[in-house]
Amino acid sequence: MRLPLTLLLAALAFSPAQAQKEADIARISRAIQPENIEKTIRTLVGFGTRNTLSSQTDPQRGIGAARDWLYGEFVKLREASGNRLIVEKQTFIQPVAPRVPQPTPLTNIVATLPGDLPADQQRYIVLSGHYDSMCSSPTDSIHDAPGANDDASGTAAVLEVARALAPYRFKATLVFLCVAGEEQGLLGSTYFAEQAKLQKWRIEAMFTNDIIGGTRGGNGVEDSRTVRVFSEGIASNETEAEAKIRRSVGGEEDSPSRQIARYIQEATAKYVRDRKRVALIARRDRYLRGGDHIPFNERGYAAVRFTEPNEDYHHQHQNVRTENDILYGDLPEFVDFPYVAKVARVNAVAAALMASAPAIPQGVGLLTRRLTEDTDLEWQAVQEPNVVGYEVVWRATTEAMWTRSRSVGKVTQYTFKGVSKDNYFFGVRAVDSKGRRSPVAFPRPVR
Ligand SMILES: [Zn+2]
Repeated sequence: MRLPLTLLLAALAFSPAQAQKEADIARISRAIQPENIEKTIRTLVGFGTRNTLSSQTDPQRGIGAARDWLYGEFVKLREASGNRLIVEKQTFIQPVAPRVPQPTPLTNIVATLPGDLPADQQRYIVLSGHYDSMCSSPTDSIHDAPGANDDASGTAAVLEVARALAPYRFKATLVFLCVAGEEQGLLGSTYFAEQAKLQKWRIEAMFTNDIIGGTRGGNGVEDSRTVRVFSEGIASNETEAEAKIRRSVGGEEDSPSRQIARYIQEATAKYVRDRKRVALIARRDRYLRGGDHIPFNERGYAAVRFTEPNEDYHHQHQNVRTENDILYGDLPEFVDFPYVAKVARVNAVAAALMASAPAIPQGVGLLTRRLTEDTDLEWQAVQEPNVVGYEVVWRATTEAMWTRSRSVGKVTQYTFKGVSKDNYFFGVRAVDSKGRRSPVAFPRPVR
């Protein structure tokens, strides 16, 4: 039977994203396959080294071979996306730097799934991993650098999340980003973040996945349930004027990045089935280490880092060798593929929810024009079609998570009668007709 064209178009317009939200998210979560992740990690390891300074032209070995293979894998997802997915190589010449002895082309693989919002309202969610690797030395382009965990695991997760999300439509644009030059000083991510800033992209959230494959730490602890999510408490780009306000009235745990981390934890608790625990770590990154979220933080974007619960330094940044009966090296046998799949599920669910939810309210202010026993909040309306209202959230000043919320209707101002702003922290989020909530916006004092 042939359907009339208009009916057919209507059927196509009824995208999966318009289906019932729980079923949707569950389907996305189930689509993540450990087998695909294992295949990606083993293929990336098979290029021998992916050091940023290794061969760009050898079809078998080196970062160039990895770059071209990854690009091809994203291109394969185009069909499932209805040819919407845009796959690009973002190449630039990295000038000489402490770990780059001569000018070197670096290439990020960028796959973009455009959102349905009008161009002038477009906002972005970026999911990243770095596909470069290193052995003991970041400038050694010769020895094997399998980088199975650091960071084929994160790269594989990003590719698999792209595969799971590509068939759906979202309001926000999703960017699946695989960067190079991480081990030489976050070079690929810095370039991408700078370009985004120059183009005035509104990036609502950036997740970097780096070392998300190990379930047995160097401390002997086995844990396949937990993933750590690192987020800064104070925004890296805070101005001196903002610091002055913060020193006066607090807000050390309320950067935009921390709101995203809380959102990920809540989304996981609600929608990810397989006993997954998101452990929020209230710092930007681990001691002595830094990741690809930092260039985004420095440019004022909310960005967080996913990492396994207990690291093992025998299997990071090590030449492959056996010494005193200890096998060193970042090899696939130390990666737990089903665990990487769980971390990918957390990414997929949080990104899908956020990309379907309303925008984070802007211009959120806590009025301080007069001394009063009430708390007065105001914000700008989110100009998106299915926003039905707002929620005010609050918590005691010593609490880590938002513990209370109140639906306040479709307004842009709300007064808590008899509740003193001195005793709580407040936030505002937008809610749509399907009950999807934006991440929270933390108010600034407004005179
Ligand atoms: Zn790494």
